[in-house]
Amino acid sequence: MDVVTAVTARRQAPERRITAPGPDMRPVAPAGTVACPSCGRRSVADRFRAELNVCSQCGHHARVPAVERIAQLADPRSAQLLDGGIGDRDPLEFDDGTPYPAAVARARERAGVDEVFSVARAEVGGVPAVLASMDFAFLGGSLGSVAGEMFTRGCELAVAEQRALVAVCTSGGARMQEGIASLAQMARCSVGVAAVAGAKLPYLAVLGDPCFGGVSASFAAQADIILAEPGARIGFAGGRVIEQAAHEYLPDGFQTAEFLLAHGMVDMVVARQRLRPTISSLLKLYMA
Ligand SMILES: [Zn+2]
Repeated sequence: MDVVTAVTARRQAPERRITAPGPDMRPVAPAGTVACPSCGRRSVADRFRAELNVCSQCGHHARVPAVERIAQLADPRSAQLLDGGIGDRDPLEFDDGTPYPAAVARARERAGVDEVFSVARAEVGGVPAVLASMDFAFLGGSLGSVAGEMFTRGCELAVAEQRALVAVCTSGGARMQEGIASLAQMARCSVGVAAVAGAKLPYLAVLGDPCFGGVSASFAAQADIILAEPGARIGFAGGRVIEQAAHEYLPDGFQTAEFLLAHGMVDMVVARQRLRPTISSLLKLYMA
């Protein structure tokens, strides 16, 4: 959606009304538990986290915060987060009822991270690497100019220190509040990836659910090896948009990791419990 359409849609949207609790409302969840977004099974939060946010009943791979991802993939005590320190950008002075800086501040509070990307210097299976991990909870993992800068710095660090690059990608796409500045990040991140390739260093991408838009159309699809998590939805435009534009029904399972593997767009579908050993083995092969 472009900026003008987004603003118009926001103006036409009906006011949200707060309804009184009714008999159809769900019961309050017990404290310290989480429900599987797929089957609804409730687990103790700490246990669910220890199982890497994978449901023990149905195997659904729930979303993982960016920093937790780094902890899951890096060797114990090896990860060192890079300082953001980039400062905020608001090139359009965007305001759709909520000024963009206020939306960023609220996202920060909710997601507990400064921006979409958390980048760390780490080791995976003893191999020096840079881990760049996206957080969908921060404005839908949208690719703004600060996120682009963070990813590019990660690429530069990999080249400077001869490290492999591993990106965990989960995103709704471009950040509409930054308009064309957001789209420019696709090119910027691609230049970063090209520098890593030019230094003959491996770049692995892990696609989590969901991975769409400008991210899937740039650095997420430019890795030497593209891994995806089971059931992850991956694509450029959403299925409904494609159906409306193409006037065709899409096949079952379209835009899932398994469908893309079968059609050659993804190299491996790897369960989260196997991600770390798989990445470790691949990096050892490349860096040997
Ligand atoms: Zn489940």
